[in-house]
Amino acid sequence: MSKKLLLKDAHIEGIRYFETYRKQGGYTAAEKALKMTPEEILEEVKTSGLRGRGGAGFPTGMKWSFLAKPEGVPRHLVVNADESEPGTFKDRYLMEFLPHLLIEGMLISSFVLGSNVSYIYIRGEYSWIPDILEEAIEEAKAAGFLGKNILGTGFDCEIYVQRGGGAYICGEETALLESLEGKRGNPRLKPPFPAVKGLWERPTVVNNVESIAAIVPIIDITGAEYAKIGVGRSTGTKLISACGNINKPGVYEIDMTITVEEFIYSDEYCGGIANGKKLKACIPGGSSVPIVPANLLLRTVNGEPRYMNYESLADGGFATGTMMGSGGFIVLDEDQCIVEHTMTLARFYHHESCGQCTPCREGTGWMHKILKKIEKGEGKMEDIDLLWDIQRKIEGNTICPLGDAAAWPVAAAIRHFRDEFEWHVKNPELSQTQNYGLANY
Ligand code: SF4
Repeated sequence: MSKKLLLKDAHIEGIRYFETYRKQGGYTAAEKALKMTPEEILEEVKTSGLRGRGGAGFPTGMKWSFLAKPEGVPRHLVVNADESEPGTFKDRYLMEFLPHLLIEGMLISSFVLGSNVSYIYIRGEYSWIPDILEEAIEEAKAAGFLGKNILGTGFDCEIYVQRGGGAYICGEETALLESLEGKRGNPRLKPPFPAVKGLWERPTVVNNVESIAAIVPIIDITGAEYAKIGVGRSTGTKLISACGNINKPGVYEIDMTITVEEFIYSDEYCGGIANGKKLKACIPGGSSVPIVPANLLLRTVNGEPRYMNYESLADGGFATGTMMGSGGFIVLDEDQCIVEHTMTLARFYHHESCGQCTPCREGTGWMHKILKKIEKGEGKMEDIDLLWDIQRKIEGNTICPLGDAAAWPVAAAIRHFRDEFEWHVKNPELSQTQNYGLANY
């Protein structure tokens, strides 16, 4: 049984309301933190080893320590709740059921960063959640945990919720900041980084919802105790949103010491592959990370079990590994067609490209067109090499990571499932009515 830190009270009726949350010990971490100095809290976060839960896995304490502090310039904390990565829905779960956990985490984080005005930028499609958050903010304010002179410390903090317009690119931190400023959400060239020039050119920290929520248990149990959970540099717990061809889709909190096999097959988590089918492949960290076939998912190339943590999932690099990413765990059974699946993702990235850089704007469209052709049985063998060549020319040549995110799924699909691409080319008639999975398993 995995240790629960974030979701331990998620099952309690009414936990989204202040009174119930408080009865369960809510806001005691904030009371403890506000008696400490910001530097002491920062040390706890560094000691905890917490890594950003949005996808990049960058150490949160280190990110906070980069924040510039020019005299007389306001600083901001912005929570990135623009959870748009296909397959990822764990932040939605946190905000919907445990809004006060996020607000409490934001209060502590704002205190450390010196942010008197903090923001939650939430994706447009989560249309019902801003009301939940705003209600929680009002409750926290009425109880003296937000507003002026919080708990008599002299620290002021307001939190505002800003709805996005439903663009995937606004999950990229600089595009998010542009959008929050009321402009089109185009990513900025870096440097300068947000820690130096962020929201309205002020020093800004942008953190994912889960990262900020994790600050509460870190203060509760101390950074040192948090670091004892998990393994290596994968400390603490991680939320995984599991979906696809499994028996029990949902949001799970894991402690990163369990194997991928246990996560997929145990009844505590995914409960095995649906309809008694075989596991074919998995994208374990949201649609942008490389897909891996079942054999490389469950074991590394050295035959070691693969674990649900940052290091083990990436073992072997992109050739044989993948990434923890955002924790969006998408499982594909034996009936699924990898070409069709890759085409769907290519269409998504093409649609979501902001259009600022040529390799991304044009390349994502070309990849989608070629994949569509191959999937319909109208492709040629050289199209597969052309596809490989295009993704190579996108990766690393764009302003923001959307280019890489569009290239990696295509690269991994060709690397591991080239036979499926070739099957579509060799079987034009069959590929119009069947898919590779159904025809070959
Ligand atoms: Fe826009 Fe794509 Fe360039 Fe990112 S990589 S800035 S989404 S065109």
